[in-house]
Amino acid sequence: MFDLLAIGSGPAAWSCALTARKRGLRCAVISAQAGTGWLHKAGQVDNYPGMPGVSGREMLEVFQRQAEAVGTEVIHGVARQIQPAGSAYMTLVGNDIVESRAVALCMGAARPKLLPGEEELLGQGVSWCGTCDGMFFRGKDVAVLSSWHGGVEEADFLSQLCRRVDYYVLGKHDIPGHIAVRPGTPKALAREEGRVTVTTTEGSAAYDGVFVFRPAVSPGAMLPGLAMNGAFITVDRRMATNLPRVYAAGDCTGMPLQIAKAVGEGNVAAISAAEDLSKE
Ligand SMILES: Cc1cc2nc3c(=O)[nH]c(=O)nc-3n(C[C@H](O)[C@H](O)[C@H](O)COP(=O)(O)OP(=O)(O)OC[C@H]3O[C@@H](n4cnc5c(N)ncnc54)[C@H](O)[C@@H]3O)c2cc1C
Repeated sequence: MFDLLAIGSGPAAWSCALTARKRGLRCAVISAQAGTGWLHKAGQVDNYPGMPGVSGREMLEVFQRQAEAVGTEVIHGVARQIQPAGSAYMTLVGNDIVESRAVALCMGAARPKLLPGEEELLGQGVSWCGTCDGMFFRGKDVAVLSSWHGGVEEADFLSQLCRRVDYYVLGKHDIPGHIAVRPGTPKALAREEGRVTVTTTEGSAAYDGVFVFRPAVSPGAMLPGLAMNGAFITVDRRMATNLPRVYAAGDCTGMPLQIAKAVGEGNVAAISAAEDLSKE
């Protein structure tokens, strides 16, 4: 059981973890695919104090090294769902559950572009989590739509349960030969006569269930009941969200999208978490 789990591995998360450790909290950072954060794309950063002219990649390496040196644990994977469980939270990372007393959402501002029909049909034949929902489709026909290699692992898992698993490519990635790839790029999902139709550039096919996998999840869908202000998570000055012991920091809370702001908010979120946890 961690005291604090920081979701994301950008400046906000490393700053949050560093301060959490300094306040004596057992803390882990959930780190998705290497190189997916925005800062990796920055060739040179000139407006962050103390590190003039550094590249975004170098800056992230320094942040991570410093947080790990004080005992931050790193868990590799994409956080898919967060569920309250009594006075704790259970976070699904890949196929593992990570338990923590508090959560800091530090997921950046990049949002996956959803297919028409996808969000409306979540829980009605469409799922983002094979581990959570695969059992509902035992012996049935399903489609996996994926933009990254994580979908291959999920398709292999679903193949053990389902009668047929068709794989559709949402974005280019390596796919091993044993996977049954269907032609065409998915364009929309629709529910028709109790099944979900996948429409692609090449035609359409109906399935009992459709699983969609991307290396990012929108915060509102990940944590039901989380208050949002458009695409951004609503927070107060303590970086607290509307949910108990859930904080947010960095680009995911809104403008300006800047490293110094992300680092500052990560620091505030950790201090707030330490204060709140000490009262329990
Ligand atoms: C090309 C470019 C240049 C920039 N230059 C500057 C600059 O010079 N100065 C400046 O101040 N700012 C700059 N920025 C903005 C800066 O990069 C961001 O403000 C900053 O990185 C925000 O930090 P963050 O921690 O909030 O989010 P991010 O850095 O975006 O990190 C979020 C991380 O969370 C991960 N993640 C998301 N969802 C999940 C999940 N479900 N599970 C696990 N991990 C997840 C992402 O993969 C990502 O690694 C630049 C941005 C770009 C794109």
